[in-house]
Amino acid sequence: MKYIQNYIGGELMAPKSGEYLDNIDPSRGIVYSYIPDSTKEDIDLAVEAAENAFPKWATTPKDERSAIMIKIANLIEERMDEFVAAESLDNGKPESLAAHVDIPRAVSNLKFFATAILHFASESHYMENGAHPGINYTTRKPIGVVGCISPWNLPLYLFTWKIAPAIAAGNCVIAKPSEITPMTAYLLSEVCIAAGLPAGVLNIVHGLGQKVGDAMTRDPKVKAISFTGGTQTGETIAKIAAPMFKKLSLELGGKNPNIIFADCDFKKMLSTTLRSSFANQGQICLCGSRIFVERPIYEKFRDAFVERVSKTKVSYPTDPEAKLGALVSKPHMEKVLSYVELAKEEGGTVLTGGIQVHLEGEYSEGYYMRPTVIEGLAYDCRTNQEEIFGPVVTITPFDTEAEALMMANSTVYGLAATVWTENLTLAHRFADQLHSGIVWVNSWLVRDLRTPFGGVKNSGVGREGGFEALRFFTEPKNVYIQL
Ligand code: NDP
Repeated sequence: MKYIQNYIGGELMAPKSGEYLDNIDPSRGIVYSYIPDSTKEDIDLAVEAAENAFPKWATTPKDERSAIMIKIANLIEERMDEFVAAESLDNGKPESLAAHVDIPRAVSNLKFFATAILHFASESHYMENGAHPGINYTTRKPIGVVGCISPWNLPLYLFTWKIAPAIAAGNCVIAKPSEITPMTAYLLSEVCIAAGLPAGVLNIVHGLGQKVGDAMTRDPKVKAISFTGGTQTGETIAKIAAPMFKKLSLELGGKNPNIIFADCDFKKMLSTTLRSSFANQGQICLCGSRIFVERPIYEKFRDAFVERVSKTKVSYPTDPEAKLGALVSKPHMEKVLSYVELAKEEGGTVLTGGIQVHLEGEYSEGYYMRPTVIEGLAYDCRTNQEEIFGPVVTITPFDTEAEALMMANSTVYGLAATVWTENLTLAHRFADQLHSGIVWVNSWLVRDLRTPFGGVKNSGVGREGGFEALRFFTEPKNVYIQL
């Protein structure tokens, strides 16, 4: 069985403790490899390597940094099948999803920021009038050693979404993938070595959040933390990092509304809503888990949706027909199932799903669950307010635009929202009033990597994407020259 290694100072190495954690294949419920159970000692080594590498990397010409990143992206593409299989095995997601979304997007992240840095310009402000005519110019320099912490739902996709802008901007990185899905981060370290990334520019330390993530957050030499994960973990990180005045980018949880007006393109809405509800087993922070439907089409929607959901195939990840694979872990599946019980206690009716699925043969112990649709719940009950992060959606009718808006905005979260209508004025008006960092109208998960990505309220602080990310990973300095 494979023992994953840390990647520190350009080398693959065992954790200083010599201890390893089990890495479980969620499609079978068995241990299939081992992950370093790293500690502060490994973080200290990584920070030292990053500090040593920083002066040279920060002054390496942008086009050289860019060329190495393109090489890393190309090497992932060359090993595409291996990365796809690893991501799917580690996470439980269908291989088809990893092949169409996760790994191609990781490649795009690297290529996007490898080229974005070549176009990243700083500002100049000319003061032509008044007592102090002069010129301001702003420089943007890399921060130094920065930390990137990512979750398990889109492992390499979100890992590279942070690492790519950080190293493109000239920083040196300590990165921690989720301990639940470490395999593609390990393959990435092999690729970085093959691509000739200088030692110490990227250091990948595997292990538990409470040991490795915590040590990274507490280390005063790590000047910025880019974190994606749960709101509670974000709060813990902020409490530790804020008194040290670290720069923080926090992409946190969501409870996204999907608002469907009666005049929508029904067919397109229905098939997209199937995806926005259950893609990646509902384990995407952008999935729409609260579906609000205008009363005149509520019953038509409910019947058509439930029929399609009940026919959706749940299967092992390598089944090309699988629409949903396994949930990421047993505790997570149990948490999601507990929300179905809560929904029933709160007066909800399970229209389809709500149960664990036991596949045959070697997959009989995997963590599978039927996609679930629940109706009859109040908009402000716990099921409709708390993040479930699994294949569970609720459907609720509404009568007026004001009511839909009130329910949509009623949670502590504000990450993404979807609106379905053919009425252009309504679409603009509604999008404008949603408390949400991202709104999709008549679509879902369409991503232009140049756009700001992130949420409001408890869904996070700061934005990723495009120049927003490059601004986060650089420190501006303004210089004024009097004329
Ligand atoms: P967690 O918050 O549990 O973990 C995220 C990462 O933080 C993991 O690498 C974890 O390590 C690490 N971590 C845990 N505790 C600490 C700590 N005390 N200090 C530093 N790091 C720590 O989230 P999940 O992995 O469970 O991911 C699901 C969550 O992520 C959901 O809430 C989802 O909404 C959110 N998410 C948000 C996105 C966004 O863009 N807004 C995108 C995708 C997901 P370990 O795995 O060892 O616990």
